[in-house]
Amino acid sequence: MNFELSAREKELARRGRAFCDDVLLPLELITDEHGELPMERREAVKQAVRDWGLAGINHSREDGGLGLTMVEQTAIEEQLGRATNGLWTCVWRPPVSLKFGTEAQKKAYLVPACGGYRRGAFAITEPDAGSDPRRVKTRADLRNGTWHLSGEKWFVTSYNASDFVIVHAHVDGDPDKPTLFLVDKPAENLTHVRSPKFMHNFAFDHAELHFAETPVGEDKMLGAIGQGFELTKDWFVEARLQIASHAIGAASRAAEIANDYATTRHQFERPIRDFQGIEFMLADMAVELFAAKSMLYRVAWEIDQGLDRKRVHAHASALKLYASEAAGRIIDKALQVLGGRGYMRENPVERLYRDIRVDRIWEGTSEIQRVVVAGQIRKRGLGIFSEIDPGVAA
Ligand SMILES: Cc1cc2nc3c(=O)[nH]c(=O)nc-3n(C[C@H](O)[C@H](O)[C@H](O)COP(=O)(O)OP(=O)(O)OC[C@H]3O[C@@H](n4cnc5c(N)ncnc54)[C@H](O)[C@@H]3O)c2cc1C
Repeated sequence: MNFELSAREKELARRGRAFCDDVLLPLELITDEHGELPMERREAVKQAVRDWGLAGINHSREDGGLGLTMVEQTAIEEQLGRATNGLWTCVWRPPVSLKFGTEAQKKAYLVPACGGYRRGAFAITEPDAGSDPRRVKTRADLRNGTWHLSGEKWFVTSYNASDFVIVHAHVDGDPDKPTLFLVDKPAENLTHVRSPKFMHNFAFDHAELHFAETPVGEDKMLGAIGQGFELTKDWFVEARLQIASHAIGAASRAAEIANDYATTRHQFERPIRDFQGIEFMLADMAVELFAAKSMLYRVAWEIDQGLDRKRVHAHASALKLYASEAAGRIIDKALQVLGGRGYMRENPVERLYRDIRVDRIWEGTSEIQRVVVAGQIRKRGLGIFSEIDPGVAA
């Protein structure tokens, strides 16, 4: 086993860190105060992503991406996760489902998305459909060679930074026919209802949309009827790894700030790290980081090795569950070490504390990840998680 990053992986991690420090961190306070990244700042950041060679980090070279391995992507994403206010999203990841599009769809959406000239949002969640997407009510009906979409979508992240939306709808209202559609903005009979405020202030919005017989060309169906879940399965694995990478980047930053502060802050005539109550918190933070990061790079490596898809799904769920919950605990302790200063909005740890909470909710809640993990134990046995190589016990 070799746990050392290659020269190329180290270079990418350094680039991700430098991009975070030079481009994203200066935008944190303005994003927090404004509620999102101000419109007039967005183009410069997009250009910076291109200039730093970080555009299209999750796609193949043939599709206009960088052709990076999962370990290489993870090395970058971990560093981007240090930025508060979801600014990591400025380094866009075009939806994975686009690679299953027709050549014409790839040319119109994927290639320009990899170049940063187009951006897509993903709309599956609805008022009555969250963890259980079979409850989706948005329907697609084909009439006279045109699809008509009707329904309501919630929490559509980055809608106001996107120029198209991938919509998950049930053809003929049949939950056995979940299907994806590409909807260009602006679209006839598509209303942006509102973009509510959330606990975090994020780079872009999370919108609520209303589709009222929105006409969509026949050529805008992505994949086949009924393939809605199949095409997004890979995205779930990728998104879970990405969330874990960001959570670990965020927790590392908080832990570093707390560790430094524990040395410089004096109370009762000594640095506060001399109190065991503080030092034990630092120890717990370090151990959880060590565990989460080891899991993260293992799962990324397994994907690169072409490990069985089902095992990868199971491991990605376990990783997302552990990393998001551990990061919550680490950042909470970091804030405690900082005392009142940790509670100030100008302190990155206060923002990280707000930012990290959603990682236990989106892309599958912690409970849903536990459902996946428990289901895999039932089906395949505990060895899928407890053995480094299940072949050894066989
Ligand atoms: C900031 C933000 C951005 C988002 N961005 C997007 C986006 O871009 N596109 C998109 O489509 N969606 C997006 N979402 C939606 C997100 O994926 C859902 O919030 C999530 O899937 C949970 O659904 P829900 O909120 O309806 O909760 P529910 O599914 O109603 O769950 C409520 C509670 O019940 C629990 N629960 C549900 N089922 C089970 C079960 N079987 N066993 C145990 N417990 C269970 C949940 O874990 C949770 O604690 C976003 C959400 C947020 C908060």
